[in-house]
Parts: sequence; C-alpha cells; structure tokens
Amino acid sequence: MGAATQEIRLKLQEYRSKEILARHGVPLLGGATATTPEQARAAAADIAGPVVVKAQVLVGGRGKAGGVKLAANPDETADRAREIIGLDIKGTTVKTVLVAPAAEIAHESYLGLILDRATRAITVIASAEGGVEIEETAKTNPEAILRLRLHPLIGLQEHQVRRVGFFLGIPAELRNDFAALLRGLHAAFMESDADLAEVNPLVVTDGGRLLALDAKIVLDDSALPRHPDLEAMRDLNEEEPSEIAAREAGISFIKLEGTIGCMVNGAGLAMTTMDLVKLAGGEPANFLDIGGGAKADRVAAAFRIILDDPNVKAILINIFGGITRGDEVARGIVEARAGLTRDVPMVVRIVGTNADEAEPILAEANLITADSLDDAAAKAVAAAEGRTA
Ligand code: GDP
Ligand code: MN
Repeated sequence: MGAATQEIRLKLQEYRSKEILARHGVPLLGGATATTPEQARAAAADIAGPVVVKAQVLVGGRGKAGGVKLAANPDETADRAREIIGLDIKGTTVKTVLVAPAAEIAHESYLGLILDRATRAITVIASAEGGVEIEETAKTNPEAILRLRLHPLIGLQEHQVRRVGFFLGIPAELRNDFAALLRGLHAAFMESDADLAEVNPLVVTDGGRLLALDAKIVLDDSALPRHPDLEAMRDLNEEEPSEIAAREAGISFIKLEGTIGCMVNGAGLAMTTMDLVKLAGGEPANFLDIGGGAKADRVAAAFRIILDDPNVKAILINIFGGITRGDEVARGIVEARAGLTRDVPMVVRIVGTNADEAEPILAEANLITADSLDDAAAKAVAAAEGRTA
C-alpha cells in the first residue's frame, strides 16, 4: 500500500478534496460516487450528458493506468465502471469510482499550494503544462514552473494572484474567475491545515469556463484534532490496518520493510533506535513511539501491532524511564507478552528511573537484556538472524 514511505499525513480522495474546494467556491463539476456498475449507471442518469468515470485511489497517474474513462450515456457508464472497479492501480484495488459530468477541455494547467519545508513558506506552484505530474515537469521542463512564496503573515497577495494568472496564460475575460479560484484554493488550504492542495488539471473548457477537473488535498495529521469533519473523510480502505490500530491505541506507528520490530518511548529516541539497528546491520520493521507512561495495555497493543507484521523476527524494546518507571514497564512487558499468540525473541533495554528494579523482572521472564543501546541493537539483529550476539 506504499504507506511505508509516507509521512504521517492524511491524503484525501479526489471526491473528498473536491467537497472541500467546492465549499470555498472553487468551480468544479461535482458528480457522485459509486461502488457498483449499477450505481454508476444511476449516477450517470442523474447527470444527463456525457460523464467521466474516475477511480478513487490515492495515487497519481490514474488516467494513464486506465482509471479515468469517458462515457456517453448511462449504459456506457456502467461498462466503464465495471472495467475500473477492481482494477489494480499501482498496488491499490479500486473500490469506488466518481461519476462526474465530462468537460470539454481546451487547455490544461497545473495549480497547487504546498507547505514548502525548504523555504519554510506556503508556496504557490503553477505550470501551464497541466495534466502531467508536476514532478515530471520539474524534471523535463523546470522553467515551465512558477513558484511563488507566500508571506507568512500577509498570505496570498493580489499582485501574486495576478502574476500566477498571467503566467498560466489565463484569457483576459477569465482573470477574475481565476483570481476567485486561487483565493478559494488558498482559503481551503489554510482552513483545513493542509500540507498540499492541488488542482491538476485546472482547465479552460471549450465553452470558456475555468474548472478544477481533478483535486488532491493532503492534511497534516497533527492538526486533525481541530478538524473532526476532515478526519471523517479518511479512507480506511487505503491505510495499513496496523497503522489504523496504532492510531486507535494512541501510538505513533509507521510500518517499514525490515525485520526488527521497535518499541520505544519518545519520537527522538525511536529515530535513534532505528539508526542504531541499521548501524548494527539490521533493518527496522517500524517506527513506534509508545508515548508516555508505557502501561501494560498500551504495551500489549504495541506488541500486537508489531507482531501483526509477519516480517518481524525480533523485537527491540528501548525505554527511557523518566516519569515512566522502569519496573512498571518491565512488568507491563512481561504481562503483555504472556497474552501474545506469536512470540519472537525480545531484547529489552530499560534505563532511567527504577532501571535496577526492572532488571530482575526481565531476567526472570527470560527476556534478553542489554545495558547499552549499541548492545541492544546488536543483540536484536543477531536474534532476528537466529544467532546470539
Ligand atoms: P490523474 O491521472 O490521476 O491525475 O487523473 P485526472 O483526473 O487528472 O485525469 C487525467 C486526465 O484525464 C486529465 O488530465 C484529462 O486529460 C482527462 N480527463 C479527466 N476528466 C476529464 C473530462 O471530464 N473530460 C475530458 N475530456 N478529459 C478528462
Ligand atoms: Mn490529475
């Protein structure tokens, strides 16, 4: 599912992204979603006129992959939906299609807003070469891309709006519409705490209208507590089940490809632990920050999430006891481990508050202990390979 390489961000499906943009006055052709050919047929019957049937999956290049097709009438719509539903697009199986009125395209552009970490500013990105992925244009024709950094306090300014419109070659009679569209996109970006809001293609139709034909919004997970309505737009079909379980348990977790499961308290310590696993010649199976007060139920949930990954051959537990007491964590680990259906070698390093009291509890439970993190990483890598370090 590709989640391994993602940051902790919430990508919204096109139809969800369009819902948000529509609320901010961005002109687009709505349509309805369907999960069966029959539903698609009914959606097309409501539209009257040609439609476009679009796979709702969180990957780019759906068009090229056969996930975007035009249909002249409801019967054709059902046929196209039948072809697209169930299709595998870059590893994701299509479950839902969007059926929307088809547009007649005169010109396609790219328009996006991103939180650019390099310049530490929200940045407008525009290219008159729309319909192709912006990364592609950046490689083949970088001068075709305009990047405009927005002032952190003033935001999007009128002269910037005009400059983007000119750059894209928007016809004079559509410049006011374009200004409203870009302001709407910006408002949507700001109000939803987005990392990215992208319209590709932004089209001028044969009839001389501006339309957002495709939309993609990516939200910052950390801001989601402020947006329960957006959280509800999450597509659980496209997330790792283990990442869903982690979120429900209040654990920060990202699945990776290695064999060493990691259970750590603190994000920084978790990163360091992963680095040292690599230094010892292993590959971490995950990033996991169990958070404060690693109690037995939280530890048990973390074990289940880690062991749910069949690639995991050993677990490295690295806990720094501050307010969290080492002996409590040790008891939590022993207790949680007893309830597991699958067991792998476990290397435990506990330092800080009550670490001395933790030691005998771990030893008695036959857990491998380590006194330094280097030592723990080496032992975990060895255990995963069936050796002892
Ligand atoms: P993506 O490939 O995943 O980015 O999906 P898009 O929604 O951007 O669609 C890909 C391409 O299909 C667009 O660049 C258009 O050229 C074409 N397309 C999408 N919607 C329509 C439509 O309503 N009418 C026409 N004629 N072409 C469309
Ligand atoms: Mn697109």
